[in-house]
Amino acid sequence: MTSLPLISVDPDARGRRPAMPPRHLADLDLPGRQALVTELGEPAFRAKQVSNHYFGRLVRDPAQMTDLPAATRERLAGTLLPTLLTPVRELACDDGATRKALWRLHDGALVESVLMGYPDRVTVCISSQAGCGMACPFCATGQAGLTRNLSTAEIVDQAVYLAGVAASGAVAGSPPRLSHVVFMGMGEPLANYSRVVAAIRRLVAPAPEGLGLSQRHITVSTVGLVPAIRRLASEDLSVTLALSLHAPDDGLRDELVPVNQRWKVSEVLDAAWDYADTTGRRVSIEYAMIKDVNDQPWRADLLGRLLAGKLAHVNLIPLNPTPGSRWDASPKPVEREFVRRLRDAGVSTTVRDTRGREIDGACGQLAAAEDRDSDPRAATA
Ligand code: SF4
Repeated sequence: MTSLPLISVDPDARGRRPAMPPRHLADLDLPGRQALVTELGEPAFRAKQVSNHYFGRLVRDPAQMTDLPAATRERLAGTLLPTLLTPVRELACDDGATRKALWRLHDGALVESVLMGYPDRVTVCISSQAGCGMACPFCATGQAGLTRNLSTAEIVDQAVYLAGVAASGAVAGSPPRLSHVVFMGMGEPLANYSRVVAAIRRLVAPAPEGLGLSQRHITVSTVGLVPAIRRLASEDLSVTLALSLHAPDDGLRDELVPVNQRWKVSEVLDAAWDYADTTGRRVSIEYAMIKDVNDQPWRADLLGRLLAGKLAHVNLIPLNPTPGSRWDASPKPVEREFVRRLRDAGVSTTVRDTRGREIDGACGQLAAAEDRDSDPRAATA
């Protein structure tokens, strides 16, 4: 039906097995960790102790795990908490309220995460894949293609690591506790479905099993993989679904979001409404405003007709510039008219702030380039 990159989104499915990282406690539920600890000849309760350090205290240094016998501390921590993410660089902007972290994975792949502090909450935007196979032409990540899926623990560890940064008070003017996670970094989360769902379960399980976040504070973004949206609706999770729509008509969406050649606007919206019905959660419709491409008044009206009366909220995103892109952000008056028309149609609409724009940490800018070590905005090496 299509020669879309969608067919090759999962490298595992092509028979070429990517080098996955060592097993980490965040890959396992608590019984799985207890079984592993028992295999090491240690009492099962050690699994809870190490889990409590990692998820409850945000500690990963064995020297700080003083409730473990000194003789076995290193071995337990080495087995349960292998290093997954090596910090390469951290950039800060917005007076320190936004911090982008670049990590190197065990096989050299690079991924990024962004920590955003607000007066009432702290959010991390995490990656689910190294690169992305969805090829959205306006997105920096999509230009480089997919390297591999991240493991469950590689996904979770981004949030745990940055929760530790927040807890250290590094995000001025924000509460110290991480409260929200959005799967809007590199990759299409639903193309790495089982690991992403396992990661969500770790993030919401109370410590020591997991990080203890509220399901309602987790957002999973997708370009519209319809079978996966329907599967997510059946998981008994009440996370927010964010649908990257970007165009209300198939002609344009086929170009902006190539997966639309496989699942059309009507199909993806049907799946989104079924998700809303099943979970009771309002669907967030993401729409990047691109000058003279998708910002015409008639498209606002068409979008308004598609969404009127539905459990949906539109999040308009001023397009972030990416190197070499031929597209630009819509002018503010055009954006305001788009908002007006949607609201007149009865559709709840807001314009997203452009956090992280100066450090390429904003939506569509995450590309994990490592060639900016001399960047004067680097906060740490
Ligand atoms: S917008 Fe999202 S799905 Fe599209 S290429 Fe970029 S990371 Fe992938």
